[in-house]
Amino acid sequence: MSDLYQLLNVERGASQDEIKKAYRKIARELHPDVNPDPEVQNKFKEVTAAYDVLSDPQKRQQYDMGGRGGFNDFGGGFGGGGFSDIMDAFFGGGGNRGPRARMRQGQDALIRVQVTLAEACFGTDRELTIESAVVCPTCTGSGCTSGTAPSMCQVCKGRGETQQIQKSFLGQVMTSRACATCSGFGTVIQDPCRECAGEGRVRARQTIPVKIPAGVETGNRMQLAGRGEVGAGGGPAGDLYVEIIEEEHEFLVRDGDTLHMEVEISFAAAALGTKITVETLDGQSEISIKEGTQTGSTVALKGHGMTRLRSNSRGDLIVHIVVMTPTKLTRDQEKILKEFAKSRGEVVGDSHTKGKNQSFLGKFRDSFGR
Ligand SMILES: [Zn+2]
Ligand SMILES: [Zn+2]
Repeated sequence: MSDLYQLLNVERGASQDEIKKAYRKIARELHPDVNPDPEVQNKFKEVTAAYDVLSDPQKRQQYDMGGRGGFNDFGGGFGGGGFSDIMDAFFGGGGNRGPRARMRQGQDALIRVQVTLAEACFGTDRELTIESAVVCPTCTGSGCTSGTAPSMCQVCKGRGETQQIQKSFLGQVMTSRACATCSGFGTVIQDPCRECAGEGRVRARQTIPVKIPAGVETGNRMQLAGRGEVGAGGGPAGDLYVEIIEEEHEFLVRDGDTLHMEVEISFAAAALGTKITVETLDGQSEISIKEGTQTGSTVALKGHGMTRLRSNSRGDLIVHIVVMTPTKLTRDQEKILKEFAKSRGEVVGDSHTKGKNQSFLGKFRDSFGR
């Protein structure tokens, strides 16, 4: 399958506006009114299908995660989603008469998968066990006992519909409806398969290996083409969507590709400066605390944040410093602190305060909705 971004001649990170412009430009050159050559027309359809995916943020995200995003390269380039509806509108897909097919397109299925923050960052391989409809192994989808085949419905003579003539005030009106005997199929299964009762499919447990890419987050959906439910009559399977749910981390808070954490240091360390070791997704990292560090100040660990989807680059880890005021002082320590304050000309012991008392922790949690 061709790369959709290449088809439209845009960068991976292109904005919706750029994508629209790029499509307009190509469409002007390839439009059927301008260039009726069949080869050019195939290209036009392909580009249109690519635009159908990339112009829809949800489909685009699915595509970015390795799915097709509704883009179907089977049989010439398109078929899923809105585009086929447009084609139907032009070429008349509706209104066809005759018996309906036993074989139907299967349903899409959705499964949710919990991943840890580290798995979301680095990607992971999972084996998912799902219960789904599969082709009946006994009749391989035909719905008939081995050696038999559906026979023509005697009531509708294979047309799948019956006609009635009714008298109305407009005169005689002929109405047709689906044949009740064969449910509109035009054929009857005389000897249905015992395993699936003629459905052509059965429910079964399946184990499906799934590669979860680095950089996913809650709500992301991966599309596994053809891994959904098999349709009635052994029809083609729908797609399986795997939705990511990211577990909350013990001390790391995610905001897009940036991670945040809080580190408490003593007020002496904050005043004098120090080196501390913090736990990150990549193991331990040492950071320097400058002398005179205030509570609420931050240190950025470049490249220790989350991986960006479909890219090797990573965001930053922001370490928020919380300076702890010492409590439970011994008499000696109290004495030293008082002398310290005196030496700086600070008044100790009265209740005079100056605003700014909203706790940093509260602000931090509020801003990330935790
Ligand atoms: Zn069967
Ligand atoms: Zn019938």
